[in-house]
Amino acid sequence: MYRLLEENNPNNPLLQPLLTEKVILGEMRSPGDDSKEFCYSCGVKLDPKTARWQVLRFMFERPSQRRQSAPSEGRPHICFSCSALAFASPLKVTDESVVLMLEPGDSSVNFEVKKLKMKDYLKMLTNKELHLSAGRYLILNSNEDKTNTGDLASQKLGQLQYAMVKIAKIFSAEVLADFKFSLMSQGSEQIILKSRHLIFIKGLMDSYGQQIVNAGKEINMTLGDAVRYIQQDLPYLADYTLTKVANVFNKYQLEQIREIYWQTLQNDLKARGDNMDSDKQLAPKAKLYIDIAALTGITYAFAQSLEITAKQANKGEDYVEREVSKLIEKVDDAVAFCYYATLGDETKRSVQARLYNNPESYFIYVQAKNLLNRLELKSREMEDEKGKKYLNLFADDILNIYQYFAANGYSQEKEWKDLTYQLKLSLYTRFPELVRKQKSTGEK
Ligand SMILES: [Zn+2]
Repeated sequence: MYRLLEENNPNNPLLQPLLTEKVILGEMRSPGDDSKEFCYSCGVKLDPKTARWQVLRFMFERPSQRRQSAPSEGRPHICFSCSALAFASPLKVTDESVVLMLEPGDSSVNFEVKKLKMKDYLKMLTNKELHLSAGRYLILNSNEDKTNTGDLASQKLGQLQYAMVKIAKIFSAEVLADFKFSLMSQGSEQIILKSRHLIFIKGLMDSYGQQIVNAGKEINMTLGDAVRYIQQDLPYLADYTLTKVANVFNKYQLEQIREIYWQTLQNDLKARGDNMDSDKQLAPKAKLYIDIAALTGITYAFAQSLEITAKQANKGEDYVEREVSKLIEKVDDAVAFCYYATLGDETKRSVQARLYNNPESYFIYVQAKNLLNRLELKSREMEDEKGKKYLNLFADDILNIYQYFAANGYSQEKEWKDLTYQLKLSLYTRFPELVRKQKSTGEK
């Protein structure tokens, strides 16, 4: 049985007995774990003459224990307050329950108001979804996420990963941003779940139509892989992982979630000063994220332009996809990239491309524009006849930008590989039909 205290009091982690005014101190007892002299749950001393309660199924998941100093299995004794608590508390930690703790996210502003809001929210959720809540705790029943053959998602995905996708599924993005979620593990350890991870997982699940269990048949292990990437703040890998398997995708929503991720990442960086588990890797990861976003914008313009040229050649869909893939595969090398970008137009001396400011690419558009400004490649933003904004790009820009990155932050081989590898994946997420094609030909 586990004790989940409503108020934190690290010096006194055990609850006081239900009816007493005396402080209970640690006492001596005879060695061994097979006696009526102590509570098997909390360790408090019991009088063997009056010890009556033995653990039952609702106190311990496995009430019958083979204790080290006992000759056979039996039910150990438990104190009165532990048994009463087991009756009274709805918080039962089993393999099938996920126990979460919720706290207001930003403790500086309107803490009390947020606390009340949170309690209301939990009550509403409990009534609506039939989960259980107690104080600021919530138990999610994982029993509903299983396959027809009885495989539990919480076991296959891992308890932490399952909790993250379940929370992402149940809660709205506003709640994920407002509240701080912690998972209470079976070892009573508190694992803080980062808002930016939960929000990004939710965004990917919604945009790619991902379920925890696919049509009752199999646990969505690919989603589990994506979650593991997100936990390491590798969003491009997570995004790409789902691009490969998803049958649907909402490109407008995806672009929004990529921007929101960037905002939450920046907020977390700012808050890092008073954050105990500050991650030293966060700043370089944030830089990598935004640099790749800008590079995606620049190279995406050329890939789109090539796609249009290839289509005009009238050699079929396969031809177009092959040519675009070839170009994307060259993103690690500026010269080769520019060479492939000239496809079908050998006379073209300077390759040009346009990046339009569309709803499905507004985030990379802004980042590409910021990058051009930073490199003093200004006055590239134009308007077409219809008044739509676009960035006018040349092959020379690619060469200059790559040179700039090679000299600024990506001079080591590993850094360069990380940058261009993730850039490649990021570009593929913009052309999902290409990776699905690769997958189906790979399976033949
Ligand atoms: Zn006890």
